[in-house]
Amino acid sequence: VPPHARMDPGGNVRVVVRVRAFLPREIQRNAECLITMDPIRQVTTLLIPNDSDPANSRAKSRRVIEEKAFTFDNSFWSHNTDDHHYATQEDVYNSLGEEFLDHNFEGYHTCIFAYGQTGSGKSYTMMGTPDQPGLIPRTCEDLFERIAHAQSETPNISYNVRVSYFEVYNEHVRDLLVPVVPNQPPYYLKIRESPTEGPYVKDLTEVPVRNIQEILRHMRTGDASRTTASTKMNDTSSRSHAVFTIMLKQIHHDMETDETTERSSRIRLVDLAGSERAKSTEATGARLREGSNINKSLTTLGRVIAALADPKQSQSRGGRRRRGGVGGGGRDAVVPYRDSILTWLLKDSLGGNSKTAMIACIAPSDYEETLSTLRYADQAK
Ligand code: ADP
Repeated sequence: VPPHARMDPGGNVRVVVRVRAFLPREIQRNAECLITMDPIRQVTTLLIPNDSDPANSRAKSRRVIEEKAFTFDNSFWSHNTDDHHYATQEDVYNSLGEEFLDHNFEGYHTCIFAYGQTGSGKSYTMMGTPDQPGLIPRTCEDLFERIAHAQSETPNISYNVRVSYFEVYNEHVRDLLVPVVPNQPPYYLKIRESPTEGPYVKDLTEVPVRNIQEILRHMRTGDASRTTASTKMNDTSSRSHAVFTIMLKQIHHDMETDETTERSSRIRLVDLAGSERAKSTEATGARLREGSNINKSLTTLGRVIAALADPKQSQSRGGRRRRGGVGGGGRDAVVPYRDSILTWLLKDSLGGNSKTAMIACIAPSDYEETLSTLRYADQAK
């Protein structure tokens, strides 16, 4: 099996891990790689060094005191070694993004999360750089290519694409497609619940997009808005969850009966708050509240995904085509969507008629945060 072959399409929850490359400053200080990945068995191993013992720190080979191994659906390596393939942005897209887009065209909602500490490669994985575009721009490009192709083959299907981009900060929702007004406090949107559609953000901007250029322009607007606001408010971007949503509607027109049928799906691509923000042990006041809100979102998300991955729960949720919608009661009550704004708003994209993936992003030489990320990802399986 090639290392980044498409994953097994069975199951509704996918958990993968990606270790990032060394940064120049890490290379400079000769940082050690504490991660190994077995490309065949998809086992990621973390080496835990014993830094506290000076006798050990002299001999590199004796520094490792413990190994912790975790198995995920896929593991993406970012180093040039003989035994393992370097996973490019394209590899990550081909092994996960492409398949999720297939599901969207089949009518499923999908949700891909990037989880990890600040600096572990979440936004590189989701957004990427102009030279190395990540999952979001690649999904957009593939989406419009598929639409163009389908329209040339089957003229009786038309497509409608809309996009929204918001962030959840401290249990508040901010629209990233509305420009930040200088010297004004951020404007937060209200959350409502519709009896048919479930929870939604009231007055959230949803813009129709006709081509790749338009969608990328909105993506950049939102990204810039997130960064502008964050420099003002002291780096909130690592403290907020950014949710990029593409709404795809396929309208099928039956030439014989003159009837039209619609199929709608939502593509959610989420860059989560830095997981280290959840702890902030010494924080007080506003920082403490912020830290505990991040913690609440991330823990709830972990519990929701774990509940969805549990086959017993999946069965009790009923048929796989059942929509997430209506209320929070009944069989869905065991899945704790309501415990955080993030999970509540993503309810339609988690469980029911949807596919979920979690990308655990890790740095190559930070065992404490990495261990916590791998444990989090492990319990989400
Ligand atoms: P986060 O969003 O988790 O805070 P970033 O995505 O900003 O982290 O990544 C931190 C730095 O590491 C950035 O300079 C980014 O370009 C770089 N980086 C992240 N992942 C990779 C990778 N797989 N290969 C090369 N560089 C990476």
